[in-house]
Amino acid sequence: MSESNEIHRYLKQTGELFGDELYIDPEIVTADDPGPALKSFYNQIKNCTQCSLGTTRDQFVFGVGDPNASLLLVGEAPGAEEDRLGEPFVGRAGKLLDKILAAIHRSREKDVYICNVMKCRPPNNRDPLSSEVMSCEPYLWRQIDLIRPGLIVALGRVAGTTLLKKENEALKNLRGKIHDYHGTPLIVTYHPAALLRNSNLKPAAWEDFQWIESILEGV
Ligand code: SF4
Repeated sequence: MSESNEIHRYLKQTGELFGDELYIDPEIVTADDPGPALKSFYNQIKNCTQCSLGTTRDQFVFGVGDPNASLLLVGEAPGAEEDRLGEPFVGRAGKLLDKILAAIHRSREKDVYICNVMKCRPPNNRDPLSSEVMSCEPYLWRQIDLIRPGLIVALGRVAGTTLLKKENEALKNLRGKIHDYHGTPLIVTYHPAALLRNSNLKPAAWEDFQWIESILEGV
């Protein structure tokens, strides 16, 4: 999709949310602390029903973490536990992610923000449809505008292919490269659930996160 089409989609989405007037949150313009603007944005979209997932979700899952984070972790979509609790990356995979973050001297509260491309759970954890991604991805753009991370890390193949619009690309072809996502560097690595399923992947994932830490030192 061209940049002008993406701008059109963003404006259409905000138009549907806020009406004909172009919405500019004054806190975005004036505050160095994006926390209040992020909270305000959450309140604006938490009841979203732009796609059918809004009618099947249990909880809307916006994201958690440090609004001033230099590292933004993005998964594909909430799973069953996330849908139940309203928080991304909980359960065993979330605990493993917390351990990985601790190993690179970070945490959910410290210099990391965690969210998903999709804010609502697709039924039975199916992959999100492209029409659903079209509806929801502008919310991620807005979160990025507010947080202004130095690096985005897509967790898992589906998150990576969805963000980079490289449908059917293998994870091995996406790892080990610095991609560009709307002007912010993006790296793709394993989803922590994949590391739980196959511990042989852990050394490669650890290499990725050491690389991520070294990139963040220069941000
Ligand atoms: S998935 Fe995104 S676009 Fe669809 S209802 Fe939920 S918040 Fe809205």
